[in-house]
Amino acid sequence: MTLPLEYEVTLPDGQKYIQPAGLFINNEFVKSIAGKTIDSINPSTSEINGSVYAAEAEDVDVAVKAARTAFKSWKRITGVERGDLLNKVADVFEKQRDLIGSIEAWDSGKTKEQNAVYDIDECISCFRYFAGWADKVQGKVIQNDPKKLAYTIHEPYGVCGQIIPWNYPLAMAAWKLAPALAAGNVVVLKTSEITPLSLLYVAKIFKEVGFPAGVVNILSGYGATAGKALASHLGVDKIAFTGSTATGKLIQQAAAANLKAVTLECGGKSPLIIRKDADIEQAVKWAAFGIMSNQGQICTSTSRIYVHEDVHDEFVEAYRSHVISDYPQGDMFNSKAVVGPQVSKIQHDKILSYIEIGKQEGAKVVLGGEKNTEGALAKGYFIKPTIFTEVKPTMRIVNEEIFGPVVVIGKFKTDEEVIEYANGTQYGLGAAIFTKDIVAAHSMASEIEAGMVWINSSNDSDVHIPFGGVKLSGVGRELGEYGLSMYTQAKAIHVNLGNKL
Ligand code: NAD
Repeated sequence: MTLPLEYEVTLPDGQKYIQPAGLFINNEFVKSIAGKTIDSINPSTSEINGSVYAAEAEDVDVAVKAARTAFKSWKRITGVERGDLLNKVADVFEKQRDLIGSIEAWDSGKTKEQNAVYDIDECISCFRYFAGWADKVQGKVIQNDPKKLAYTIHEPYGVCGQIIPWNYPLAMAAWKLAPALAAGNVVVLKTSEITPLSLLYVAKIFKEVGFPAGVVNILSGYGATAGKALASHLGVDKIAFTGSTATGKLIQQAAAANLKAVTLECGGKSPLIIRKDADIEQAVKWAAFGIMSNQGQICTSTSRIYVHEDVHDEFVEAYRSHVISDYPQGDMFNSKAVVGPQVSKIQHDKILSYIEIGKQEGAKVVLGGEKNTEGALAKGYFIKPTIFTEVKPTMRIVNEEIFGPVVVIGKFKTDEEVIEYANGTQYGLGAAIFTKDIVAAHSMASEIEAGMVWINSSNDSDVHIPFGGVKLSGVGRELGEYGLSMYTQAKAIHVNLGNKL
């Protein structure tokens, strides 16, 4: 049976909507040329939620050509007009917060009330923030020689390819679409094959608010086909990627085909340090938020906790109790549930295998450490929030990204020792420090190899502030003015005011 281009869906909370299933190219939903499709699986039941068309290289080519054509007129509109359109997208997100939150929860396994709707708020903030920048993209006048006027224009790249993961399907799309469009680019964005539904629904919002055809193109598709085609396409001027470090390396290689500008937001194994002078109650709360929210599927999750030996036992006891009381597990539409299912069977199996590795390596499980098989949860990809203690720096669970609700807690004696632990992995995304000593806090923040450091908080993401990593965690920044700057390049204009040869 041929997949229709749209179908009606009744969500588990009773809301109805029309789910598009096509590729969104030139403001229309179209079938993929080869007719291939992707099934989206419900993480809490392992049943199929719906199917969509999957782009392959030839579809990517059509989308890139549509974008390139659109760029010819899009680059001539004013920043005020671009900002207005982005604000209108935010308006629709505001009006449909509940519905879009439900679709996102259903597609990705995020619990709706305690998690998914906050991603919709993040999208609203992001579209509004970059809407504000759209008419403030400014170059400089460079003064040296009185007989020369020199200035720069910050020009958009043109066609931006964007590839996003499944852990924040809409928020990661907003982080990429909003600055690219604000700066005057056109976009071909590929969603994750695991969570294609929500952004296809959102795609039509861009058309409805008035974005011209071809400015925003959204493709569902697999990484090895559509993703690779986008990253290597000679008609794409810039590629922005969020996902695993292994894929990030492939993207950088593929982008070399035409020396595309590249931004990569990749994996992490972020440390959270608790000095003995820390406010333990605050440390407990942020340390739980930093790894147990979003089922631990957060690139910046503070998945390694290091506690000063004098307060270690007190912290572990309080932390364990807090996770039990404040991170209940349940289906996405259970309004009290905070921790939902993992996004897919592959991730679920990967996390369970890491838990086994941790046990074999000799770490002690003080909470969880297994699949949740209570009642209806047995059908889904639920893993109990898991805490390991008595870990050693050489263990795989201390060094490798698990990407689930699994945290390791180690001890330290001195600041020097814990900085060495913190910097001991190949990643460098985030890091958190809990202390009341401002000198120690800022000194440690400067010593830590990470793109972001939180002092007395964790995973405190903010659209105004740059986000990104060092080492194998990535290249470039998203959000804030730095994030906008990733979507323009400076052109230098030299005007001779009288210099003679
Ligand atoms: P992934 O690397 O498997 O996939 C990410 C995207 O890349 C998907 O859209 C996928 O289809 C595509 N892709 C896969 N192979 C490709 C290829 N050869 N060429 C082009 N595209 C390809 O990652 P994931 O499993 O979706 O996401 C989890 C990872 O993302 C974790 O490692 C996590 O740390 C990272 N992540 C990082 C950030 C950040 O900002 N640093 C944010 C979220 C997630």
